[in-house]
Amino acid sequence: MKSLKIKLDGIPIKIRLTLWYLLLAGMVVLLSGLYEYIQFQRSLYSSVDQSLEISVSQALSNIDMANGLPAFQNTENQPTASKMLLQSEFTIRILSPEGKVLESIGDKVLNAATDSLSAGYQTIQKDDLYRVLTQPIQDTDGQIVGWLQAVQSLEVIEETLGNMRTKLLLVLPVILLLTGLGGVFLANRTLRPIDQITRTAAEIGASDLSHRISYQGSQDEIGRLAQTFDSMLSRLEAAFKRERRFTGDAAHELRTPLTVLKGQLDVTLSKPRKKTEYESTLQALGEQVDRLIRLSNALLFLSRSDQKQLSWEPGSINLADLLDPIVEQILPLALERNLTVRTNIPAGLLVYGDTDHLIRLFLNLLDNAVKYTPKEGDIVLHAEEVPSGVRLEISNSGDGIPQEHIQHLFERFYRVESDRSSGTGGTGLGLAIAREIVLLHQGEIFVESEPGQGTKFIVLLPQPT
Ligand code: ADP
Repeated sequence: MKSLKIKLDGIPIKIRLTLWYLLLAGMVVLLSGLYEYIQFQRSLYSSVDQSLEISVSQALSNIDMANGLPAFQNTENQPTASKMLLQSEFTIRILSPEGKVLESIGDKVLNAATDSLSAGYQTIQKDDLYRVLTQPIQDTDGQIVGWLQAVQSLEVIEETLGNMRTKLLLVLPVILLLTGLGGVFLANRTLRPIDQITRTAAEIGASDLSHRISYQGSQDEIGRLAQTFDSMLSRLEAAFKRERRFTGDAAHELRTPLTVLKGQLDVTLSKPRKKTEYESTLQALGEQVDRLIRLSNALLFLSRSDQKQLSWEPGSINLADLLDPIVEQILPLALERNLTVRTNIPAGLLVYGDTDHLIRLFLNLLDNAVKYTPKEGDIVLHAEEVPSGVRLEISNSGDGIPQEHIQHLFERFYRVESDRSSGTGGTGLGLAIAREIVLLHQGEIFVESEPGQGTKFIVLLPQPT
């Protein structure tokens, strides 16, 4: 069995399908032919048996005793059924109790006596094949005085059955041949799209993911396979594009502070300077270095998140306790810009998460709120319990974010054009990181923004169970 399996493994599906198809069809044809044959044989035999029975029962009523032995009354008065049968290869005869043939009418198809004498049907082979029905002839005392036998040659029936067998044996290979051809045709037709998929897949290289199978056939399993393959290619293409853009953006973001650093260094070193000038240059250089550190930290975080290597030490966290120090931290910056910061966090409200990641999340969102709220604006922090967990809203006044940017805000390096040149020092990675953190918590983050009203970031986090 094992070696058969190994051998089959190397055979193309097309041939395997056809072979299975052939095997099943062959078995069905063979079994149904066999069934028909047996049914036919039975019906022929039973019609012979019926005729024999009728003849015997009619003949029995036409028997008399002559010289102590049974004999037919008058052959002219033979029962009609027997007469009819006598035209075919049929014999009706009387035997002595010992089995000696005393009298016989008909074709004398079987001259010899049967081997055993007992009431009932027998099929015997003597030169030819015969069907015999034997009945005892009894006198008035119930004594067996002889036997009556109706004998029918089965030659014609056997010939008919033989013909049928030959026909079946001739038809079977023809049917198998036709089935085989049909199987090859069907297998070819069914598997052709798979060949197409294989060819397309072979043509696709990593540098060119724009190929598609674009299958036009019916929407069956293969149609769906082709579609799934196409959509997988689309996803891969999009992922490759994203990856390329990300590398390009990262290189660009790294180059900007480095160029500024180099420029400031060159200018400062171009001639001797006063101590205060060196100090202010170093301070400016320090800011660029901070920016580079922030950027590389953000990139490191995203890369760890992509590789599912972020640390994850979740626990039950009191939201007010977590947010208070973060608000404290951003307050000086907010005051610098005359912003009003209001918080409404119910005491004792708990979330389930990782403290370090949640601090980073809210720091990013609050830092953005401070950066992007116009001077003298408002920032409101509101939290409440909802059926799905805890809902936290960070709203700020301002012009709002134009609708066309909303869907891209959480993409890496995405920045609203007008904010790019605003000198906020942002990298465009803050919201992408926020999103990764929320997803890590199996929460949700989204943004609502009303033109001229302001912006609201909404975070849904799970509660401890
Ligand atoms: P950045 O480092 O530029 O702040 P983010 O990913 O944090 O990057 O934010 C992406 C963009 O979303 C920002 O450039 C800004 O245009 C917009 N944005 C983020 N937060 C706010 C906010 N609270 N109000 C208005 N715009 C915002």
